[in-house]
Amino acid sequence: MSRIHRVAPEFAASSTPAFSGEARPGRRTSAHSAFWIMVRRVTLLAASVDVAFLLFFLVVGSPLLAWLNLASIAIYATAYVLLYRRRNFPALLLIWLEVVLHALVGTMLLGWDSGFHYYLLMFIPAIVVSGSGRTVILPLLFLFLVYLGLHALAHFIGAMAPLGDTALLVLNVFNVSIFFCMAGYTARFYYQLVRKTEERLRELATSDTLTGLSNRRHLLDLAQQEIARARRANEDVSLVLADIDHFKQINDNHGHDAGDRVLVHASQLFREICRTQDIVARWGGEEFLFLLPGTGKAAAREFAERVRKTIAATQVGHADQPITFRLSMGVATLVGWEHLHDAIGRADRALYQSKTEGRDRVTLADHPARRATVPAHSDEDAFPV
Ligand code: GH3
Ligand code: MG
Ligand code: MG
Repeated sequence: MSRIHRVAPEFAASSTPAFSGEARPGRRTSAHSAFWIMVRRVTLLAASVDVAFLLFFLVVGSPLLAWLNLASIAIYATAYVLLYRRRNFPALLLIWLEVVLHALVGTMLLGWDSGFHYYLLMFIPAIVVSGSGRTVILPLLFLFLVYLGLHALAHFIGAMAPLGDTALLVLNVFNVSIFFCMAGYTARFYYQLVRKTEERLRELATSDTLTGLSNRRHLLDLAQQEIARARRANEDVSLVLADIDHFKQINDNHGHDAGDRVLVHASQLFREICRTQDIVARWGGEEFLFLLPGTGKAAAREFAERVRKTIAATQVGHADQPITFRLSMGVATLVGWEHLHDAIGRADRALYQSKTEGRDRVTLADHPARRATVPAHSDEDAFPV
């Protein structure tokens, strides 16, 4: 089982990366920057393709087309520099202009079979992911009409500077190949973007934003599975509920930010102390719950003592006055068919006892008064702990 208590990466909910407009500081997300990195790569790829065209047209004796490609390379170089300086809008305008003009000039001079029109199709996904409603329909319609218009024009006028059959075939195959590569690359990019976004949303839904530990709901979900597994394997499962002592005073004396740093610091230590199979969650404000699979009463108590002593020995830097803090803890080991919530209740009462008896201590929960019986509609396995 993987460690559950990973720190959630910062993720500001983002719209689909816009295909137009300047990158706005403060609204940038990793998806947003990934998008612009992708655009930069495609720009480089397009410029390299134009270098290949330049050589090709020099070899087949079409200097006019060769010079046109030199102009394209210059446009892509300018677009690349603009993208690098985050001047995204003019960069995109240049790229659009280049692709449309290149498709237009290439098709009119060499004919439809040259395959220059394929590049226009690259704009379909770009337009669709950029906007919504009319900002998608109108540009898409425009692109469609340009595409059909170019086809009709090429059909009626024919090639104005035709190439030989072999050269035309080579050019067509080259253009189709490049189109496949670009379409494949961008499709992969959009797919990975969706996957990453999904992963981040899952992390957001399952972890606590301040500490990166699992949140309460996630722990409860995982605990059900873990308890069922432990029951099948006839293993013990223990719970440790920990609460920072006099945490309100830390906030009052050092400020809320210092309080936050204490929570983050404690969480980091909890992560280090836990084994891979343990789960630790932020249960409430300054309260944490550990779920320890394969751990009986004695080992759980030992674990809790280790956590308590580690926290007691640590300091959180704050101005010139380091903050020390303590933990009170309650330990409960699940008994028979005891429901998770009942065991948490016992750990909570043990924690309360730790508080009333002076804090900075570990208390073992009482054995449940009555041995729990198998619930009539239990979805847990029929194997008692
Ligand atoms: P005890 O020893 O009895 O547990 O006392 P306590 O002061 O720790 O407990 P109390 O319940 O009185 O206060 C808990 C405080 O924790 C109150 C609340 O403002 C603070 N708190 C809750 N969540 C956060 C948080 O995310 N950050 C900070 N800085 N403080 C928080
Ligand atoms: Mg407290
Ligand atoms: Mg509390």
